[in-house]
Amino acid sequence: MELDAKDGKFAARLIAWQRRHGRHGLPWQGTKDAYRIWLSEIMLQQTQVGTVIPYYLAFLERFPDVASLAASDVDSVLRLWSGLGYYSRARNLHRAACEVVVRHGGTFPHDRETLESLPGVGRSTAAAIAAFAHGAREAILDGNVKRVLARHFAVAGYPGEAKVALRLWTIAEAVLPSQGIATYTQALMDLGATVCSRTPACERCPVHDTCQARAQGNVAAYPGTRQRKAVPVRATRMLLLFHQGRLLLEKRPPSGVWGGLWSFPEVSMDEDVASVCEARFGLVVDAITPLSALKHSFTHFTLNIHPVQCRVRADRRVADSAATQWMDPDHAAMEAVPVPVKKLLVRLKAESGEAADRQ
Ligand code: SF4
Repeated sequence: MELDAKDGKFAARLIAWQRRHGRHGLPWQGTKDAYRIWLSEIMLQQTQVGTVIPYYLAFLERFPDVASLAASDVDSVLRLWSGLGYYSRARNLHRAACEVVVRHGGTFPHDRETLESLPGVGRSTAAAIAAFAHGAREAILDGNVKRVLARHFAVAGYPGEAKVALRLWTIAEAVLPSQGIATYTQALMDLGATVCSRTPACERCPVHDTCQARAQGNVAAYPGTRQRKAVPVRATRMLLLFHQGRLLLEKRPPSGVWGGLWSFPEVSMDEDVASVCEARFGLVVDAITPLSALKHSFTHFTLNIHPVQCRVRADRRVADSAATQWMDPDHAAMEAVPVPVKKLLVRLKAESGEAADRQ
C-alpha cells in the first residue's frame, strides 16, 4: 500500500497525542544525556518498562556516567544485571562504555552511523539515542514500532524477513516529521506499548481513521508471523555439590549461553555423576538426591534442567580460583548467576528454612 496525503498527518497526530496521553514520568525521560538514554534503550530491548526501572536506577547509582561504567570490571556489571536476562547486552554495555571512553574521549557520538558502531547498538537503538539526545531526524523501528507501522500501513509479511523489514524502514523514514522528532519518537514507543499492543485498543488510537488494517477489519493479520519451527529441547544435569555447607560454582566462558556468569557444574544426562565428580573435582560423592526438574526457555531452544544435590567429601578438593569457587549459598545468590541457578538457590534456602522450622 502506498503512502498518501492523509499519512502526512500521521506524525502530527502522534505528536499531539503524546503530549496529552503519552508517558511522561519514566526515569529516563526529560534528559538529553546520551549515557542515560543509551542505558535505558539497551535495558528496554526485549524487556518490559516495569522490569527495567529498578535496574536502571540501580545502575545509575552505581555507575553515574560512562567513565565509571568503563572503569568497572565486567563482573560487577554482570552482577548488577543479574536477573534482567540476555546477558550479552551487559557484556556489550561494558565494551561500548570502554569504546566511548577510549575512542570517543568519553563523549557519546552524536550521529546515528557512529553510534551504530558501538557494541550492542543496532540501527533503531542508535536512531533513538540520536533523536532523544540531539534531535537528529532519524527513524526508529523496534518491535513495537514494527507492529504499529505494519498495521497502520497494512504491510503484510513477517517483519523478520529482509524485504518486509526494508518496507517498514522505508515507511518509518517517509513519515518522519520535520520538527518535534523526540516527541514523535516517544509517541511511537508509547502507542506501541499502551494502545497498539498485541490486543489493540483502536478506539483510543489517534490514527484509527487512517489505519489500513482497521479499515480492512483485519488488524489481527498484522504484523505477519514467522513460520514456526519446533523449538529444539535439550537436557542437562546440574550438580549442586555441597561440601562443609558450601556449594561449588564455576564461571562460564565469556561468550555463549550465560557467558561470564557463575553457574553450577553441568554433566550430560548419560554421564555418571560420581565418576565425573571424582575425575573433574577430586570429590567423593557420599549421597545423591535428585531435585525436581525446571525448564528454561531461550530464544532458540528449551533447556530442561535436572538438578541433583550431592553431599561430597574431598579427596583432592578443587581449590578456589578465578573460574571455580566454593560459595556460601547466600553469597552465591548475590553473584551474577543465571535465572535457573537463582531459582535453585532460592529453593534450597526455602527448604533449609522449612527444615529448621520443623526442628
Ligand atoms: S487503529 Fe488500532 S491497529 Fe491501527 S494503529 Fe491504531 S491501535 Fe493500531
